[in-house]
Amino acid sequence: MFFDSIVIGGGVAGVFTAYNLSKYSKTLLIEKKHIGAGGSGSAGAFLNPKFGNSTLSQLINKSMNFSREFYLNNSPEFIHLSKLNHYEDNGEHFIFDSAVADANEILQLFSKNFQIEYINISKNNISHDGDFWQIDKFKTKNLVFTTGALSELTGEPYIKIRPVWGERLDIESDTFLENSFHNEISISQTINGKIRIGATHFRDIIERESSNIEREEFLSKAKNIVELKNAKIVGSTSGVRSASYDFFPVIGRVIDSKKTIQKFPQLIHGRKYNFTDFEYYKNLFIFSGLGGYGFSLAPYFGELLANSILNNKFLDDEVEPHRLFKKYVKNLRNRFI
Ligand SMILES: Cc1cc2nc3c(=O)[nH]c(=O)nc-3n(C[C@H](O)[C@H](O)[C@H](O)COP(=O)(O)OP(=O)(O)OC[C@H]3O[C@@H](n4cnc5c(N)ncnc54)[C@H](O)[C@@H]3O)c2cc1C
Repeated sequence: MFFDSIVIGGGVAGVFTAYNLSKYSKTLLIEKKHIGAGGSGSAGAFLNPKFGNSTLSQLINKSMNFSREFYLNNSPEFIHLSKLNHYEDNGEHFIFDSAVADANEILQLFSKNFQIEYINISKNNISHDGDFWQIDKFKTKNLVFTTGALSELTGEPYIKIRPVWGERLDIESDTFLENSFHNEISISQTINGKIRIGATHFRDIIERESSNIEREEFLSKAKNIVELKNAKIVGSTSGVRSASYDFFPVIGRVIDSKKTIQKFPQLIHGRKYNFTDFEYYKNLFIFSGLGGYGFSLAPYFGELLANSILNNKFLDDEVEPHRLFKKYVKNLRNRFI
């Protein structure tokens, strides 16, 4: 069966890429377990701004503003606005507009627009023939990997995505919170009788078991930020985030590193070339490395990526994978010197 585009991975990156592609082209999403089975389904889904004025903060905050409006217009029942009390280490206090999303409900809602098949794809299921990709029994022109922290499907050594395992808590408390708080950890306003506390961070860990002692310690941290009378833990979810090494998301065209180095052997010796002249896999894309900001980044970049795929254009340099390839080549060069 033929699809214009196939997206592999049913987290927030995959759902919003498929949602946007499906507006203009026949799109299939392939997921190995269920929608939200990865980190996205466990997210506290805070849409908190990133503090500061760095390029990364600007990118995240621009995406967050877009995505908050998007949810308000398209899924108002699953987005909860609040004022965020943000505390810096030095005690400075800022108030921002913020929001918390219902992760699984949003993923389910926007998955209704395209076909989904449940298959665990391995490299052996993927082949390329002329202009088309064969994925299991499906044929497509455009192939997008949105497999989160599991980035091995590209087989490319420069695409390095770090797993960051985390757990979020749901609590009940006699304290009603009208607004949310952030001081290293995030505490939501009271939503349907519950308060979400997000989240722990364990770098380079894909899977781990958390203990009740750890959960109680995490709750104590929250109580140091805001009074939570008679707080008791009523639920927890855990999963793995995907983070790039420079913390920017990785979105766009996948370079064939071997062919590019063969074409430009002087790359290894430091010669600069225009990235548009590199060798790319035909119509192969990736959207990963969303860090702790998947629900802010995905609606915004899902739309930009779909436009870039359908109009054959690059995205901005700060997100395209060619920056990772250049870093990889630089590291190879350093090994030769
Ligand atoms: C504890 C925790 C707290 C978080 N808090 C927030 C928050 O406050 N705000 C926020 O915006 N985001 C939050 N996040 C989400 C985070 O932002 C990540 O960005 C998000 O989980 C990554 O989304 P993703 O779609 O890239 O990957 P995932 O959600 O991991 O999705 C990848 C999907 O691909 C599937 N898959 C993998 N390999 C294959 C294969 N070979 N074949 C088929 N399917 C495959 C997996 O089953 C999975 O469903 C949190 C995440 C966690 C774990």
